[in-house]
Amino acid sequence: MSSEMNGDAVLVCEGLRKSYHEGPQVLPVIKGVEFVVQRGERIAIVGQSGSGKSTLLNLLGGLDTPDQGRVLLAGQDYAGLSERKRGELRNRSLGFVYQFHHLLPEFTAVENVCMPLLIRGDGIAEAEAAARKLLARVGLAERAGHKPSELSGGERQRVAIARALVPEPDCVLLDEPTGNLDSHTAESIHHLMRELNAELETSFVVVTHDQQLAESMDRVYHLQDGLLIQL
Ligand code: ADP
Ligand code: MG
Repeated sequence: MSSEMNGDAVLVCEGLRKSYHEGPQVLPVIKGVEFVVQRGERIAIVGQSGSGKSTLLNLLGGLDTPDQGRVLLAGQDYAGLSERKRGELRNRSLGFVYQFHHLLPEFTAVENVCMPLLIRGDGIAEAEAAARKLLARVGLAERAGHKPSELSGGERQRVAIARALVPEPDCVLLDEPTGNLDSHTAESIHHLMRELNAELETSFVVVTHDQQLAESMDRVYHLQDGLLIQL
């Protein structure tokens, strides 16, 4: 599919291939993936451990470069951008949630959630108001002043999700976001994703083992033998 046909596509990837090299060994992981995420679409990617889901998500997010093929975010090919421009585009358009939270340990929850807004130049008061609002939506209003070490695993993950969502990105990439959460907390995260999707047309691409979450998305793909197959 050509990118010209995808006027409202948030993410487009074409002919993606990626191998890892370990000395003389070549491990092909992504073997020709074609994939379009339209504005407001919610997509799940499932697959066995080691099938390349994180590798694919890193390519989609411009955190890693493909051996072949290209990825366009908001119509722009990562490969055609300088490192700085790529960073700016990513900050503006994408949110990331990883299996492990990657919060800054010396900052409080609200400071961590403020960070993407401060980086893009918002004022402190405005950033803090937005951060507190989102922390409340993930059920952590009372924990805003706590550092990551003072929070449970599920709470840290909810802070990480608030941080990804606070700049209202076009698309959020989530790598097994609820894998370590109890079912009640996981359900509140799913609910928040649905709300933001409805309110802001945020697109979501979520790698998950959670059957219920996968089935609640608009499309489900299976990554198998390096190819994405729509289920
Ligand atoms: P998944 O997220 O589906 O579990 P990954 O994308 O993490 O799978 O990994 C896919 C395959 O690539 C695995 O066999 C893994 O060992 C290998 N792999 C991942 N990252 C690297 C790397 N940086 N160097 C070498 N091999 C890697
Ligand atoms: Mg993974």
